[in-house]
Amino acid sequence: MGQHIGQKQTLQELEENVLARIDQEEVIAFHQGLVRIPSINPPGDCRDAIDFVEKPLRDAGFEIERVQDLDIMPNVIASIGPKDGKTLLVNAHVDVVPIGERDAWTHEPFGAEIADGRVYGRGAGDDKASVAAQVMAALAVKRAGIPLAGRLVINQLSDEEVGGVHGAALVSAHEGLNPDWVINGEQTLNRVCVGEKGSAGTIITVHGKTAHGALPWEGANAIEGLAEVIVALRRELWPDLENRTHWAFKPSSASTNLVEGGVKSNVVPDKASCFIDRRIVPGEDPDECRQEIDDIAQRAIKNVPGASVTVELMSEIGGRKASAAPVEDPLVQAMLQANERLGLSTEPTGFSMGTDGRFWAEKGIPTIIYGPGDPSLAHKPDEWIGIDEIMAAARAYAIAMVRLVGDYAE
Ligand SMILES: [Zn+2]
Repeated sequence: MGQHIGQKQTLQELEENVLARIDQEEVIAFHQGLVRIPSINPPGDCRDAIDFVEKPLRDAGFEIERVQDLDIMPNVIASIGPKDGKTLLVNAHVDVVPIGERDAWTHEPFGAEIADGRVYGRGAGDDKASVAAQVMAALAVKRAGIPLAGRLVINQLSDEEVGGVHGAALVSAHEGLNPDWVINGEQTLNRVCVGEKGSAGTIITVHGKTAHGALPWEGANAIEGLAEVIVALRRELWPDLENRTHWAFKPSSASTNLVEGGVKSNVVPDKASCFIDRRIVPGEDPDECRQEIDDIAQRAIKNVPGASVTVELMSEIGGRKASAAPVEDPLVQAMLQANERLGLSTEPTGFSMGTDGRFWAEKGIPTIIYGPGDPSLAHKPDEWIGIDEIMAAARAYAIAMVRLVGDYAE
C-alpha cells in the first residue's frame, strides 16, 4: 500500500482508505457536542461553537485562519494541500434559529438526545449535521494520508440564519480564497442540488387619498386599489409562472405574503402595500420580473380613480438570479459518483430555498448544495437528524473530496 513516486494509488484505494477512517461513534459524539452548544442567532454568539469545530482540525494539522468583522461571529477557514492545484471549498453554518415555544418540544432543545436512531435538538439538522459530516470527512482525508493534488478548504460560518452578512458574505469576499468549486452543506436529504432558486421579492405600494369614511367618493381608496392589483396579478401572471420551468427546479412562483395599510376604521386609506415573495428559475431576471408586475399593476390601478402604484424590488431579499452548475462539471460529477458508490440518489436536482452558496455562485464559481437532513424539519420543534443520514453524508463528502483534490492514478 506504500506510495512510491510514479506509482500512484488508484482512486478506489484512496476511497477505501478514507472511508475506513470515518468512525460512527466519533462522528455522532462530535455532532452531539456541537448541538449542545446553543449558538442561537439572534443574537448569534457563535464563539464556543466555532472553537469546538476548529479544535480537531487544528489538532490534525490543518492551517487555520479566522475571518470576522464581529467579535461574537468568527468564521473559521481550515485548509490542507498545495495551493497550486484546484481548490475545493466546503462550508456549512453553526448558528441556529431560536427554539420557539419550549412547550412544543418533547426533547431537550440543546440536549442532543438520541432516540430511534435519531439525534434531536435545535440545529441537529440545520445545519450542524452538515458541519459534523464535513469536519469528520476532512479529518478522515487527513488521517488516511490521502495524497493531495489540490487544496481542501473547510469553512464553517457563524452567520447564516440572519442573512450571512457576517458569515458567507464576508468569507466569499476574503482575499486569497479562490475556490474552483464550492459544496454548501444544507439539508438536501443527501441529494445533489446543482443550484438554488433565485428571488425577486417585490414591494407594491398604492397611494390614494384620505376622506371621511362616510364620504368615500371624496377619497381614493388605496386598499381597494391594492386589491385590484393583487387580483390582476393572480389572474394574469401567476398562472403563467407555472410554465416557467427548469429541469432542476420546481416552477417559478409568487405568493403575496405580507399586506399593510389603512389609517382608522372611519377613514378612507391613502396608503397600502404588500410584499410579493417571488421565486425565480434560471433564465428569469429579477428586474424583468419587477417590470412585468409593474405593467399589470399600472393597468389594474386604473380601476380606482385617483390612486397610483409603485413597484420595487426589496433590496435585501429581492434581486438574485437562480444558480445552476452544469451537470457535467467535475464538482457535480464527483458528488453524484459519491452517491452512486454509497447507494444514494444519483439524480441531480435543485434547491428551492436560498443558501450561503449564492455568495459563491454569484461569482460564477460552480456551487452545489448537499447535506444530510430534511429541510421541512428545520426551524421546527423536535428538529432531528437520522444517524444514518449524517454517516452517509460524511462518507459522501469524503469521497467527493478525494475525487476532486486527491492525487491518484487515472
Ligand atoms: Zn441552514
